[in-house]
Amino acid sequence: MEDWEDRVVIAGGGPTGLMLACELGLAGVEAVVVERDPEQDEDSQGMAVHGRSLEVFKRRGLADRIREEDIWAWPRTPFAFFWLDLGDLGEQDYTYAFPQWRTERLLEERARELGVDIRRGHELVGFEQDAAGVTVETRSAEGSDRLRGAFLVGCDGADSKVRDLAGIEFESSGLAYHGVLGDVVLSDGPQPEFTTGLFQRGMFGALPLQPGELRLMTIEFGARAPDRGTPVTAEELRASIGRVTGTDPEVEGVRWLSRFGGTTRHARRYREGRVLLAGDAAHVLYISGTQGLNAGIQDAVNLGWKLAAEVQGWAPDGLLDTYHGERHPVGERICMHARAQMALMHPLDQVTPLRALVGDLLEIDAVNRFLLELPSAAGYPLPAADGTQGEPHPLLGQPLPDVPLDTGGEPDGVAAALRYGRGVLLDLSDGAADLGEAGAWAGRVDVVTAKPLRELDAAVLLVRPDGHVAYADRTGGDPKDLRRALASWFGEPPSAGTAE
Ligand SMILES: Cc1cc2nc3c(=O)[nH]c(=O)nc-3n(C[C@H](O)[C@H](O)[C@H](O)COP(=O)(O)OP(=O)(O)OC[C@H]3O[C@@H](n4cnc5c(N)ncnc54)[C@H](O)[C@@H]3O)c2cc1C
Repeated sequence: MEDWEDRVVIAGGGPTGLMLACELGLAGVEAVVVERDPEQDEDSQGMAVHGRSLEVFKRRGLADRIREEDIWAWPRTPFAFFWLDLGDLGEQDYTYAFPQWRTERLLEERARELGVDIRRGHELVGFEQDAAGVTVETRSAEGSDRLRGAFLVGCDGADSKVRDLAGIEFESSGLAYHGVLGDVVLSDGPQPEFTTGLFQRGMFGALPLQPGELRLMTIEFGARAPDRGTPVTAEELRASIGRVTGTDPEVEGVRWLSRFGGTTRHARRYREGRVLLAGDAAHVLYISGTQGLNAGIQDAVNLGWKLAAEVQGWAPDGLLDTYHGERHPVGERICMHARAQMALMHPLDQVTPLRALVGDLLEIDAVNRFLLELPSAAGYPLPAADGTQGEPHPLLGQPLPDVPLDTGGEPDGVAAALRYGRGVLLDLSDGAADLGEAGAWAGRVDVVTAKPLRELDAAVLLVRPDGHVAYADRTGGDPKDLRRALASWFGEPPSAGTAE
């Protein structure tokens, strides 16, 4: 019989599914991606990634593959048609122009290098789960097929079949909207002029995409989208711009068109037995906050190592459930952020005073910063290893910044230390810490010794494979607490002589 116990099936090869595939491939877990589209496009709706996603790419050695000319920092980030000023924020809170198709290409290339089986042109049409695994039914040009794995992850986007078949409710809230976008090539000669902004019916923007190209994009509130099967046309875009702005624009040189919309929606739970959800399958947001793809990347890196631990048999009790526990509240927060933006935009005649007030508040640096950090706020409220209720170390639960490490060689920084997708036990104690039997977790946790770093204010840090700090100790004097932390995230160590 086919060997399936160590396999994870991923439905959907968008950014979330591909990131998860990379994580599983890195951990040495067999991953199969079934993706409905036969080919990857060179156009996409998404235009931007957050610094937090780039941090993830850095930790996995992927950022080095992005050419400098393909990515640039946006000086400001949109919020409900205001602009948040990046001010003195660090790079991790910037937004970078980097089209979604480039992210997908980067991830697909890496996933294939890691041996992931990506089956393009294969659509998931059904599945059944039992106590031991999940049997997935797919359809392709060659016919129907069945595929079994230990787990199935639905990364199949907003209309997720996996979510529907798993019976997971997708709660809808906030105002419905519908939008059309068109990427237009500018001709030589006089450039077109458009009336952009926020209007009573919706909004219209004309954003530079790349030299010589503009993205025209409308959003209409409370509008009904044409039937899905209807092809998008330049006339539909022109008419939508006209309805929103009250002008009669000329739209020429259209190279690519797309339609989008809906409401903000959030899955009630991210796990149903052996079936999990990530990315847009779990949460769909109003787009202006450039959130969706970024949230999907974070879902994938949170889930990847936990699934690998389950499949490889070393996961401590409850580890996989921490995926829902940690990511669902983040989903709630970003959905709230999206709904709040909608509420600040429509109906314009009623929200104008509120917008004026928010505009004034945005002059305050702390408010700017709060709104910028809120959606990508990256920490998880992780419990302290000794169960104390005292003031936790400020790094506990936070992603560890990529500070340089003086190890006398490799790795030379935090991101480099995390490149292999394993946990990292960082000994910064200058020989003072007692790490007890930490070496017994070799294969799951790498011990890295570096010179003390004043800015981290810690002697010992245990960092999960997703870069979040699971244990932080200022003195490094308690091997029992450290052992508890190691066991609670990485299971009991393999007994002597047992190969991992
Ligand atoms: C206009 C617009 C602009 C946006 N801009 C940004 C931005 O700047 N930054 C940002 O972070 N987000 C942005 N987003 C959101 C972002 O595009 C999505 O959040 C992101 O695509 C979600 O990734 P995903 O992999 O979860 O889902 P998807 O990208 O939807 O991928 C799902 C994949 O699953 C496949 N699939 C679906 N059903 C099946 C099936 N049954 N079997 C097999 N395969 C299946 C699909 O073909 C698809 O490839 C934008 C969205 C829109 C509409």
